[in-house]
Amino acid sequence: MSEGPSYGFDTLQIHAGARPDPATGARNTPIYQTTAYVFRDAEHAAALFNLQEVGYIYSRLTNPTVAVLQERLATLEGGVGAVCCSSGHAAQIMALFPLMAPGRNVVVSTRLYGGSITQFSQTIKRFGWTAKFVDIDDLDAVEAAIDDDTRAVFCEAVANPGGHVADLDAISAVADKAGLPLIVDNTSATPYLCRPIEHGATLVVHSMTKYLTGNGSVTGGVVIDSGKFDWSASDKFPSLSEPEPAYHGLKFHETFGPLAFTFHGIAIGLRDLGMTLNPQAAHYTLMGIETLSLRMERHTQNAEKVAAWLETHPHVDGVTYAGLPSSPYYERAQRICPKGTGGLFTVALKGGYDACVKFVDSLELFSHVANLGDTRSLVIHSASTTHRQLTPEQQEAAGAGANVVRISIGIENAEDLIADLDQALNAAHA
Ligand SMILES: *Cc1c(COP(=O)(O)O)cnc(C)c1O
Repeated sequence: MSEGPSYGFDTLQIHAGARPDPATGARNTPIYQTTAYVFRDAEHAAALFNLQEVGYIYSRLTNPTVAVLQERLATLEGGVGAVCCSSGHAAQIMALFPLMAPGRNVVVSTRLYGGSITQFSQTIKRFGWTAKFVDIDDLDAVEAAIDDDTRAVFCEAVANPGGHVADLDAISAVADKAGLPLIVDNTSATPYLCRPIEHGATLVVHSMTKYLTGNGSVTGGVVIDSGKFDWSASDKFPSLSEPEPAYHGLKFHETFGPLAFTFHGIAIGLRDLGMTLNPQAAHYTLMGIETLSLRMERHTQNAEKVAAWLETHPHVDGVTYAGLPSSPYYERAQRICPKGTGGLFTVALKGGYDACVKFVDSLELFSHVANLGDTRSLVIHSASTTHRQLTPEQQEAAGAGANVVRISIGIENAEDLIADLDQALNAAHA
């Protein structure tokens, strides 16, 4: 596709990054199921290995199918480049890797996907990194948590599972003042509903496993770079601003400018950490993204109907959906995600833990699974599953207390979803 900055989202989600296959004219992007690529000659091979010429060497680093997906995602998020990886969790490590070093820390929101809380509070310690958890709504606390060793601020745009909407404009201003990048996990909102870069984010990460692929068929992740951060403004980011010994002293920021983070992600991150997305998975995700806007519209319409219905149900204590006028985040959502807040929310049931477990077991149309963002409606009791490793305090802070069920509304008929929820609520209280 030729450069078309005026194309709308629906057009770009189908065309960005793709062109008919130069060898065969194939209209759909082929799955380049190959490990390696033949060099034209020894000189060409040397230039590729020196990063003097961009091209394909080996599929741990780059692959043409994956490259189309990277360009499409960078376009949809309004970034300059993207690096796909094997999962959302891989993307989070890949986003932090060029910024961090032993002794450094990242300031993160307490309202995160349960697996991210575990990754940040436990696993990254093995690298000598630490995470400082803060209430991301408390901007003074965010500012106070930042110290000389902080290298990034991390939050979710619309938090899984509680549906909290982060004030990205305000948080990015705090990060900016401290000379730090803001990393935003945009998994729950997708670029159709929220574009974090327009609200000051430096990097955007996704679990593509969820809405981007959209049908529960693959695991994947991506890091998208805004290209706007000045990595050389301080001495805090030597991986990007200082000479890289593994490439004959090349300086990524000086050499690649706004593409420094993306080149580093491929040439160092994928090369040495190896968390690569396979071309088959990239193909499924490309197919999913073609209908992203249509699905997100229906997810949102259905969630608005179901959440409004649940809110008035006698067995329900509360619904945390930012698309409901009763939500404390309703006003903020109009600014951060004006087209709606997606299909994910939690519902607090009267009757606590026991009622939640019985409710989940009684649902028929909803599937009880550890996933979200599928065409199918899904449900899970976070406290006994995805957030099980957390303390009760961490569960509460993440919006996943014992009386709370997470619901991912699919694109079925809303009336059918409501009927199923109604019979399960009644069964849970029989
Ligand atoms: C699922 C999820 C992740 C992790 O992604 P995987 O693809 O499962 O590794 C990260 N953040 C959010 C918000 C998620 O929902």
